[in-house]
Amino acid sequence: MATGFYTNPIYLEHDTGNHPENADRLRAIDKHLRYSGLLNELEMRPGCTAELKEIQLLHSKKYIDSIREAAELGRGILGTPDCIISPGTFGAALHAVGAVLDSVVQVADNKIDNAFCAIRPPGHHAEHDAAMGFCFLNNVAIAAEFLQKNFGYQRILIFDFDVHHGNGTQHLFEKSEKVLYASTHQDPRTCYPGTGFAHETGFGSGKGFTLNFPLPPGTTDDRYLEFFQNKIIPQFEDYKPDFILLSAGFDGHTRDPLAMLDLTENCYHEITKQMRTLAEKFASGRLVSLLEGGYDLEALALSVEAHILALLH
Ligand SMILES: [Zn+2]
Repeated sequence: MATGFYTNPIYLEHDTGNHPENADRLRAIDKHLRYSGLLNELEMRPGCTAELKEIQLLHSKKYIDSIREAAELGRGILGTPDCIISPGTFGAALHAVGAVLDSVVQVADNKIDNAFCAIRPPGHHAEHDAAMGFCFLNNVAIAAEFLQKNFGYQRILIFDFDVHHGNGTQHLFEKSEKVLYASTHQDPRTCYPGTGFAHETGFGSGKGFTLNFPLPPGTTDDRYLEFFQNKIIPQFEDYKPDFILLSAGFDGHTRDPLAMLDLTENCYHEITKQMRTLAEKFASGRLVSLLEGGYDLEALALSVEAHILALLH
C-alpha cells in the first residue's frame, strides 16, 4: 500500500496572472518534491474530471453554468474581484473535484493508504452558489457528500487548518450531524473572510458538529500544537471519525504574505502525524488531504513536503 499523490497539468490552465493564487504554486511543489526525491516514494495519480452530477451534489446547476460561461467568455472575474477566471478555469475546477473523488474512492477501496491532492483552484471558501476567496467549487465538501452518498460513511471529519476560515464548507454542513467540520484559523476579527467565531457551532441536528478555533495573530508552533493536542484532538477522539478529510492550507506559515500566524513546516508535520494516528485508530487509516492555500512559494513547498512525509511514514 502507498500514499497517493494526485496532480495534473490541467491545473496550470487556471490562469490568474500574478494573483497570489497562481500556477507557480503547483510548479514550486512539483519542483521541490522532484528535487528532494520524495515524488519517487509516492504513487503518482493523474486523477480525472468530475461528472456534473457529482458537482451538483452541493452546487446549483445555475451556478455551475455561470462558471462555465464566464470561463468561455473570458470574463476575467466571477462575482468578486478575488476570483479571477480564465478560459481554463472551468476544466481545472472540474478536474480538481474529480481528483479528490478518485482519491477518496481509492482510499475507501483500500487501493492506497492515504493521499494528497495537489490541486487548484482551491475550494473551502466556495458556497453553494457563489465563488469566494480564490475558490469556485468546494472540493472537500463535495468529497464528504460523495462519501456519505456512495459509501455510507456517517462520521466524516473535515479538519481545515488553512489560516482562513472555510466558510463554504461550514455553511454546506452546518445543519448535518454526519460531517464534523473543524477549523483552526486566524482570528476572524483580523483575517478574511471574517467568519469562524467559536460561537458558530451549527444548527438543528448539526448543532455541535461545527467547531471553530480562532487563533491570535502571532501564534507559534508550540502554542498551536499545545492547543491542538489538549483541546482539539480529544474532541476528534470523542467523535470517532470513520473517514478523515484535510483541507490543507499552508498559509499559516510565518513567511506567508496573506496572514499573520507564525507557524513553520514542523507544525504541519506534527499536525499531520497526529491526524494520521487518529485515522489509524478510528478509520482504518482512511485519510485524504487536499491543497487549499499557501502563498509563499518556498514555504509552501517545504510545508507540503513535511505534510507528505508524515502521511508516508
Ligand atoms: Zn487560506
